[in-house]
Formats: sequence, C-alpha cells, structure tokens
Amino acid sequence: MNTGRQIGDKSVAGHRTVLPGDTIGILGGGQLGRMMALAGTAMGYRFVTLDPTPDAPSSHTAHQIIAEYHNIEAARELAKKSDVITYEFENVDAGVASVLEEESYVPQGSQLLYTTQHRIREKQAIEKAGVPVAPYRVIEGLDSLKQAVEELGLPCVLKTATGGYDGKGQFVIRHAEQLDEAFTELTASGKELVLEQFISFQCEISVITARSPQGEVKSFPVSENIHVNNILHLSIVPARVTEQVQREARRLAERLATSMNTVGLLAVELFVTEEGKLYVNELAPRPHNSAHYTMEACVTSQFEQHVRAICNLELQDTDLLSPVVMVNVLGQHLDAVVQRAGEHDEIATELGVIPKLHLYGKSESKTNRKMGHINLLCKDVQEALDWVEHTNIWR
Ligand code: AMP
Repeated sequence: MNTGRQIGDKSVAGHRTVLPGDTIGILGGGQLGRMMALAGTAMGYRFVTLDPTPDAPSSHTAHQIIAEYHNIEAARELAKKSDVITYEFENVDAGVASVLEEESYVPQGSQLLYTTQHRIREKQAIEKAGVPVAPYRVIEGLDSLKQAVEELGLPCVLKTATGGYDGKGQFVIRHAEQLDEAFTELTASGKELVLEQFISFQCEISVITARSPQGEVKSFPVSENIHVNNILHLSIVPARVTEQVQREARRLAERLATSMNTVGLLAVELFVTEEGKLYVNELAPRPHNSAHYTMEACVTSQFEQHVRAICNLELQDTDLLSPVVMVNVLGQHLDAVVQRAGEHDEIATELGVIPKLHLYGKSESKTNRKMGHINLLCKDVQEALDWVEHTNIWR
C-alpha cells in the first residue's frame, strides 16, 4: 500500500526511506524474488510481485499479480500497490521501466538496467570506470568478424549483445574454419554481436557489492565459481585465490558500483588468470546465484542487504561466519536431494559438514532448471567438496 507520500517526497538526496510495514514491489517472481521476500518479510516488509506464471516461486512469499512483464496496466497496478519497486532480472521492458519510474519509486533507476541489458554498453561502462574487460570488438558483419579475429587472435568467443544467459547465445571459435558457422549461428538471432578474446583463466570468481543511496558500499566475500555446462554448479568461499586477488576484486567491484551510481546490489563476475590478472566478464544489478551462500554463512544475506539498500536503511556487516560451499540443485538432482533430506546424513556427520537446503517451490522440475541450492557450512571447504563428491548426486 502507498503510505500517502507524494512523488517527489524524497528525504535523502532524492531518495526516500522506506520503513518496515511498507510494501516492496518486485518485477519478477522467480527464486530471487522469493528469497528477497523471505528476508524482507522477516524485517516486517510486505511484498507484491509481477510474474506471468501462476504459482511462481515468490507467490508463496508475496502477493502475485499474474501478467506478462510488458503489460503496462499490470505494471501500473504493481506501482499502485508498492512503496518502492525493485526487480530480480535485468531484461525489464523499457516501457514498463518508465511507467514504474513515473508512477512509483524506483531507487535503482533505469540507467543501470539499460547498461547491463546489453553486453557492448556494459563493457563500455566498465572501461569508463577504469576496470579491465577481456579485449573485444563490436561485430558488424562477416568481414568485420574476420578482421576482429585477426586482431584478437584465436581462440575467441562470439556472443550476442542481448538475451544470452547460462552460455546461451555464444560460440567459442577455436579454428579459423569455424568462423562462418559461428557467424551464421549467432547472426540468425538478428541481435548485435560482440567478439571477445578467450581468457585462459585459472578460475572464475564473483563479488557482490551493495551500495546505499548515500554512496556507502559494502562487499560480500569473494566467491570462487565452478560452472558445469555453463550453469553455476559450485560457489566456494573463501575463494582459493590470494588475499591480494580478493582485495583487488572487491576494489574493482566497489569502483564499478560507485561509477555506475548503483543503488542495491551489483554482482560482478571476473576471470582470474595464472598471473593473478583480473578481467570483468559480466555484471548483474540484482541478487546473484553465486552469493546464495550468504544466507547462512554471512552476518547479513545478500537479500537482506538489497532490501536495506533500496529502502535506504543502513547497510550491515558482510563478514563471513563460516567457510561454505554452495551447490546448485538442478532438476536432475532434485529427487535424490529430497530423499536425502529425510534420512540421517552419515557423510555430513563424518565430514563435519552442515548442509542447509533451500528449495524454490517450483511446480515443474526439468533437466538443468534451478530448483534449489544447498549451503554446506564447514570448517574447511575441502570437506564440503568431499560431501558433494561422496553423495554421488552431482556426477
Ligand atoms: P557468460 O554468459 O558471458 O557469463 O559466459 C558463460 C561462461 O563462458 C563463463 O562463465 C566462462 O566460463 C565462459 N566464457 C565467457 N566468455 C569468456 C571469455 N572471453 N574467455 C573465456 N571464457 C569465457
């Protein structure tokens, strides 16, 4: 419910403080919205989401408006019911974003969405902040692709500028003979293309930073991320990289959050080379799968911190309480994970690992669909990795 404040009634440098008891509207009702609402409900906020799928994951933790994301009338209804609006994905329709900004309060604004919806705009913004990205070229046709491959060298990765996720919309070009095939495959989408140099990384890491409307920034500990079939499989914290790499990754993430005037969370994915050099791969202005570990392993979870930031409450400490490994539960793992939850976990007891299960309440389970995750609290991350191995569920 709106509390009767007028648009323009902004208390801190153009930003309002939204207090517990007020309503937070979320565009998108997937697992990120669900977990945001779980954290915010505990603080006393109310939630309303907009999502086209009946019984979406967040419908169990928030009132859901069932409508397509581009439905302007539904966006208006969301705006009317909400004191503040946020989103759980970056591909928000531009028309809807402007209606929400005009008719409600969107502290994150639409500029960051506009930037992170498009790989080329995103890379330009990262470079503008003085933060390194993998060398790249904008591709305008087959000839320009050939030229770019000559300049960047092989291997390299051709990507669509928009719409790609979990490795979709990209082609790794290893040999010159694959050039035509890569171009034909990706150009069929009609989207703009970008070619990146292939970074031979030692590991992939991410940093999630929160920024308040006053410009305070607080980062979560660096997570080391292992992907299988381009889908996040494990997040390992503390990341097995040097202190110096961790410090630098956090510095870069905070620099980006500040340079991009972020309010709320900014997730920054990076490649780390053997020499300890860092390149930013991707940004997301929202909670991120690689920071689900914060739910039990940090003083404050990423979801609570996001709520605090958009509501203009003071950010809280992000200290790590325990080493942790997060393992994603995909459709193909679900039955075994649920079965295991009802049994005594001998392996966990032997290894001294405490598994914390989170399921997203999705009604349909499919191969490679994210159904939940487990945070494995441990004394040493190797014990948690051994648990994942010994359960035989993720083979
Ligand atoms: P993305 O959709 O950009 O996050 O890419 C998905 C995955 O592909 C990344 O997590 C990396 O493992 C790999 N990848 C993407 N771009 C590059 C690159 N330029 N060099 C090496 N690996 C890459």
